[in-house]
Amino acid sequence: MNISLLARKIYRLVKSGSAKAKDYKNYARYLADAPASYSTALFNLTVDLELAWSRARKNDGATTLAESLRRGRLARKNFPALLSLLDSYGIPATFAIVGHVALDNCSDHNQPPKFHPDWINGDWYDIDPKSDDNYYGLDLVKELLKGPGHEIASHSFSHVDFSDEFTGADVAAFEIAESRRVIEKLGAPLDTFVFPNNRPAFVDILAKNNFTIYRNSKNGKIARDQYGCWQFPVGIWISPNAFGSKEAIKLVKTAIQKQQLVNFWFHLHEFAGEKQLREFFEPVLRFVSESARQGLIRPDTMRGIVKAIR
Ligand SMILES: [Zn+2]
Ligand SMILES: [Zn+2]
Repeated sequence: MNISLLARKIYRLVKSGSAKAKDYKNYARYLADAPASYSTALFNLTVDLELAWSRARKNDGATTLAESLRRGRLARKNFPALLSLLDSYGIPATFAIVGHVALDNCSDHNQPPKFHPDWINGDWYDIDPKSDDNYYGLDLVKELLKGPGHEIASHSFSHVDFSDEFTGADVAAFEIAESRRVIEKLGAPLDTFVFPNNRPAFVDILAKNNFTIYRNSKNGKIARDQYGCWQFPVGIWISPNAFGSKEAIKLVKTAIQKQQLVNFWFHLHEFAGEKQLREFFEPVLRFVSESARQGLIRPDTMRGIVKAIR
């Protein structure tokens, strides 16, 4: 590697490191400063489960196919460790699943509309490979339905960014309705929507399709929007590269002191493997579970929390 390439790499690393540190500081300050909003502290953990459907707009192009597949494989590998931890500590989590992940073959979904954002070659839905394991996760979804009251939320059908300038109402409507159709077949109730990239749009279509809760782009008290949907605060994205379990526990402690909602969301592919995932989550979940036993915090899913505070 030449010097300027190395310098650029270090610059990017420092820059992204400091951006993550800033996000953490901002969230810690938000939790500490917001007026007490609830009668008890609340805890939610959301897993955005997308396997290889993590494509998003990136500079002039999109997440590469190789990177998407790498993420899918890693998510699959890390999934059992997370599930067993949630099980041992009795913590219900929210799983925001890409609709296509709740399938085991392509003949069980409807034909999507034509969709060609300028920043990818060909049609968005051409990626659907009709074969690769990383695009199907019905086996994983069936596993998580056995857990301690986990909630299944929709994370759209194929991870379309609703706020992207190329996304039209026809695509948004397909993504919303088809994810509902596929997920409902599992027999689990469906109330919550998590917008890819946390960029809400077409909320009117969401409301028409009977979704009543969505993760918002910012933090604030859980409240209804103009369509009657509950806006759930975005909370903070967790990754072992952003902060450690000690820092995560600090946020939970602040939430307990201030009777706030602490909301974590993450992707399984952020963790290099089972060991790193356990090292991060075990202390956090143990702390939440012990605090819950003392009546200091209520760990629940997004649906459970909205139900409890309304
Ligand atoms: Zn398909
Ligand atoms: Zn996502």
